[in-house]
Amino acid sequence: AIAYVNGDFLPLDEARISVLDRGFLFSDSVYEVIPVYAGHCFRLAEHLQRLDDSLAGLRISNPHALSAWTELVAALIDANDGGDLSVYIQVTRGAPPRRDHRLPSDVAPTVVAFCQSRGEPDAAVMRDGIGAITHVDTRWHYCSIKSTSLLANVMAADAARAEGATEALLVRDGAVLEGTSSNVFAVIDDRLITPALRETILPGITRAAVLEIATREGIGHQEIDTLTPAALAGASEIWITSSTREVFAVTRLDGKPVGAGRPGPLWTRMRSCLQAMAHE
Ligand code: PLP
Repeated sequence: AIAYVNGDFLPLDEARISVLDRGFLFSDSVYEVIPVYAGHCFRLAEHLQRLDDSLAGLRISNPHALSAWTELVAALIDANDGGDLSVYIQVTRGAPPRRDHRLPSDVAPTVVAFCQSRGEPDAAVMRDGIGAITHVDTRWHYCSIKSTSLLANVMAADAARAEGATEALLVRDGAVLEGTSSNVFAVIDDRLITPALRETILPGITRAAVLEIATREGIGHQEIDTLTPAALAGASEIWITSSTREVFAVTRLDGKPVGAGRPGPLWTRMRSCLQAMAHE
């Protein structure tokens, strides 16, 4: 695998950054994960716009123009022989000469990128769906910024694993917001529901694609302010969405079956629409 570090392409296992890098010391950095289908990025412009928004949110200057990012991503995909991949990009505030909480004024951002293979989703997951738990959201407030400060996400996901589930759905102030690495949808009274965007939710690119498909297909849908855990528990279908997983059906929530306990009919329809869109 070939990685990119600050202008150079090199084997991933030779890629290095400084221990003084603020991304390493403070999680002072942002990232993107872009899915690639047969060598072609899905919604690259949207991912690069969100990267720009995340950088602005942390007052890190974007080191590249849109055209340079587009060329960088294309070169990285080429260097890794295309196919079905996900491209990971991370931009940190850089590596000043000393560790200091105060933001440095004259340090160039660090740019790291690499690819991972993105195989077919697990057949058992497609057939049976996944389990999820609800879990207290202990993340910082600005979750609309895609920062690499993911410890709360990682620990909540591990709490899910400990209960035999795959994803934790995060609850704050009585509202289910999103998963640890996914957005959440529910089918309630035959309507597709998702929490409305706010500072504590990542504006998922897959989420936006699902809402676009719902509009196009005439599927009744609504972004709501408060999705309570109780309302979620009564849903006939629950889904999670993300760039690497597309849309997964959640068939067990906190150990109880969701609806009939099988991936639902709307999920089947949405999944095929989403795949068609990704392969366009
Ligand atoms: N929410 C969180 C917290 C995430 O980390 C992710 C992606 O990893 C998502 C939502 C889904 O976003 P996207 O569809 O852009 O991958």
